[in-house]
Amino acid sequence: MTRQRLAILGATGSIGSSTLDVVARHPDRFELTTLSAHSQVDALVALCRRFRPARAVVSDPAAYAALRDGLADAGLDTEAHAGPEALEAAAEAADTDTVVAAIVGAAGMSSTLAAARAGKRILLANKESVVLAGDLLMREIRAHGARVLPVDSEHNAIFQCLPGDPAQRGGVRRVLLTASGGPFRGFTRAQLAGVTPEQACAHPNWSMGRKISVDSATLMNKGLEVIEAHWLFGLDRARIDVVVHPQSIVHSLVDYVDGSMLAQLGQPDMRTALAYGLAWPERIDSGVGTLDLAALGRLDFEAPDHATFPCLGLAYAALAAGGTAPAVLNAANEVAVSAFLQGRAGFLDIPALLQATLDALETHPADSLDATLAADAEARRVAGALLPRLAGQARP
Ligand code: NDP
Ligand code: MG
Repeated sequence: MTRQRLAILGATGSIGSSTLDVVARHPDRFELTTLSAHSQVDALVALCRRFRPARAVVSDPAAYAALRDGLADAGLDTEAHAGPEALEAAAEAADTDTVVAAIVGAAGMSSTLAAARAGKRILLANKESVVLAGDLLMREIRAHGARVLPVDSEHNAIFQCLPGDPAQRGGVRRVLLTASGGPFRGFTRAQLAGVTPEQACAHPNWSMGRKISVDSATLMNKGLEVIEAHWLFGLDRARIDVVVHPQSIVHSLVDYVDGSMLAQLGQPDMRTALAYGLAWPERIDSGVGTLDLAALGRLDFEAPDHATFPCLGLAYAALAAGGTAPAVLNAANEVAVSAFLQGRAGFLDIPALLQATLDALETHPADSLDATLAADAEARRVAGALLPRLAGQARP
């Protein structure tokens, strides 16, 4: 069997390590060409020792010397590279078939776009790049014959429940994204006012990086996923709904015009979606066990609480506004989440900052990479300037 040659961008993160866990179970199927991190050099060198990729990349140029010396000290012939350009070069390298886009935030966009332009198979976890540049990314994918395999669990579930041939998707009434509701499901705004980053990052079902954990707690994650579904599946926002499902067993559903609903179920463990993407169209062991439905007993569903968690509604509004609005929303959210994690903003300040940034900026067409990057930069600047005035002002 020819082995699939993989670049894992964001290898030291939560998705990166789940991907490597699946890869390690199938040494005859996969070989690693690139592993990347931002600045966690020791963790990256440890992965290189174990997986022997051809190259290792740190996107932070200041970490280059430590990476080069760490690889040499470990006696490895893995090449050391640094900087965002090295990440893009790795995404388009001729020795690579598949790029796992597992960087967190807008920082993942340029390498995801580079993989699309190089016609790669892309296992897409980095939802922020789709929110930021969905139109552009999908156009590059089509123009260069790249293929996206969604590995965000909801989009992976929908992908599994849709007919493979897009021409046969006429019978789809809508898709239904499930949301766990996060650690603060059922909280009032007054209770949310005092929650800490540690509480926000203690997700009841999933173990994830800190940024997406906060996004899950605000429901912004589901908002980003609505925008992601719009671009990945070419669906109008009126055909993308959200239902809260606290057990995170049903990962999402497709509702057909004949009254059928198809769902994908599984443990809340990203290795299932990643194994599906890695082996598609085949299936391989992911290390995740089967579900014991009788032991589970019940699956619950409820409507999202838009009043207490306004971020989901803000995402629908940004999608309706179109153009650069989703890029502005995403950038303001990255500023707000980072401020919350650093103790410079409260939990309720997150939606307040998103709303204020959207209100402050006009929406422009997002028809080029320059327009998108300009909107991202402007929104970060405006959100950063608004934050000190807003922080602590949001009332329960
Ligand atoms: P983590 O924070 O765990 O990992 C992030 C990875 O990206 C690390 O390898 C990190 O390197 C690297 N990184 C951080 N900043 C930069 C930067 N500026 N430039 C380049 N690389 C950078 O995140 P997750 O694995 O949780 O999430 C990754 C992506 O997958 C996100 O877009 C998230 O929304 C999405 N996703 C995650 C899920 C999950 O279960 N975790 C589920 C569905 C989607 P270093 O270690 O050196 O900092
Ligand atoms: Mg998800």
